Amino acid sequence: MASTAASPAFCGIPKASTATSATARASLSAPTTRFLVKTPLRRLGFAAAEPLLAHHVATKVRSFGGKAVRGVASMAKKSVGELTAADLKGKKVFVRADLNVPLDDNQNITDDTRIRAAIPTIKHLINNGAKVILSSHLGRPKGFTPKYSLGPLVPRLSELLGIQVVKADDVIGPEVEKLVAGLDEGSVLLLENVRFYKEEEKNDPEFAKKLASLADLFVNDAFGTAHRAHASTEGVTKFLKPSVAGFLLQKELDYLVGAVSSPKRPFAAIVGGSKVSSKIGVIESLLEKCDILLLGGGMIFTFYKAQGLSVGSSLVEEDKLDLATTLLEKAKAKGVDLLLPTDVVIADKFAPDANSKIVPASAIPDGWMGLDIGPDSVKTFNAALETTKTVIWNGPMGVFEFDKFAFGTDSIAKKLADLSGKGVTTIIGGGDSVAAVEKVGVASVMSHISTGGGASLELLEGKALPGVLALDEATPVAV
Ligand code: AMP
Repeated sequence: MASTAASPAFCGIPKASTATSATARASLSAPTTRFLVKTPLRRLGFAAAEPLLAHHVATKVRSFGGKAVRGVASMAKKSVGELTAADLKGKKVFVRADLNVPLDDNQNITDDTRIRAAIPTIKHLINNGAKVILSSHLGRPKGFTPKYSLGPLVPRLSELLGIQVVKADDVIGPEVEKLVAGLDEGSVLLLENVRFYKEEEKNDPEFAKKLASLADLFVNDAFGTAHRAHASTEGVTKFLKPSVAGFLLQKELDYLVGAVSSPKRPFAAIVGGSKVSSKIGVIESLLEKCDILLLGGGMIFTFYKAQGLSVGSSLVEEDKLDLATTLLEKAKAKGVDLLLPTDVVIADKFAPDANSKIVPASAIPDGWMGLDIGPDSVKTFNAALETTKTVIWNGPMGVFEFDKFAFGTDSIAKKLADLSGKGVTTIIGGGDSVAAVEKVGVASVMSHISTGGGASLELLEGKALPGVLALDEATPVAV
């Protein structure tokens, strides 16, 4: 456990019932020819000779478009756990959660993780007599769109909370106000998708004021959107006091900030994924803190090329070769043990049924591309990990969506599960690494699985998140 982990009684996420997201999220949709024509490889900023590979990476990279404020402001925030019945009984509490769950074509929830993650905070509030006004976004709607209604979430929310959740058809306005006025202590009103209003993402102060006018105080538990300053995450804090962190948000901060900045050592970071460019911030930030850095995924080929090796048609960011060299030098200067894979699994095309073989990292033939790390590398990485007390992992070791190239990623997931059992703090830092540990079936044994992709990446880069910065400071504890 992280030394700073708070309120363990409330941090547990209720178990899934039929959740099956991992494989669904991991599946790759086939790119259309139109996309490839419209998106020349040059614009993607790397030299992958294979159009399917280029498309795959471009899709991934676009998901990291968020901006965050750099800052050193304290991330120690007042927690909802500090609020007792004396603070909460009869109070209207605006809770911003991240209930952005995937739905199938019949509006069935295919992965309820985010709903389950929101339950401990809501339960604490209703058990202490609060009236909860629950807000979330779902998808990326343009105005009121039935497809993105929060209606389908009501049955599962009600089941997990053990009470019937009431749903409003709007986010603000007289109908919503009437429903709020009729709320009993210990009940929950779910507002409609807050992104039905464009004012939400613009952090419009008037809209934030209207949202805030529904309640007496604010709890932000939406870690997945904490890296965005939106009306329901940041704007409302200007009108509601106190504004505090929910248990989920708190736990994310405890691990991604607390455990990472004062880790039990040796501390290893494993960074993978597609491109160096999307992980520069994470690598640079972790280089300041870790003892061992293991690199995998598509980014390793830029490092190989920077060292003068041939990489065939593997993913390479030509404009990041100098950066790769600088990072290697930085690691050396700081005494960080940076390990690159010594062997790779190569493929003759970017496809699940590609021909493949294992070769030393120094022997990638022309026309072949590296899509996974090899067995020798796994052995070396495992030996290094065996020495650690804290491990953080962000980004897969290979194209784990294709079974043939999932060995490296699966092996790391299994190793971390093994280490968790031996008392090592294991932190899965969001995005595809989470999908990978879910796929292997070891998610439940990790110390912490981050629920936010972009937000966890930004925290690991050392950025302060606007949705967190805006909350009240933690009450200092006398020592
Ligand atoms: P990221 O979102 O940056 O963490 O990247 C995750 C993606 O990296 C996954 O979809 C993987 O398929 C991809 N990836 C991992 N290894 C490679 C590789 N060797 N070549 C291309 N893509 C890769």
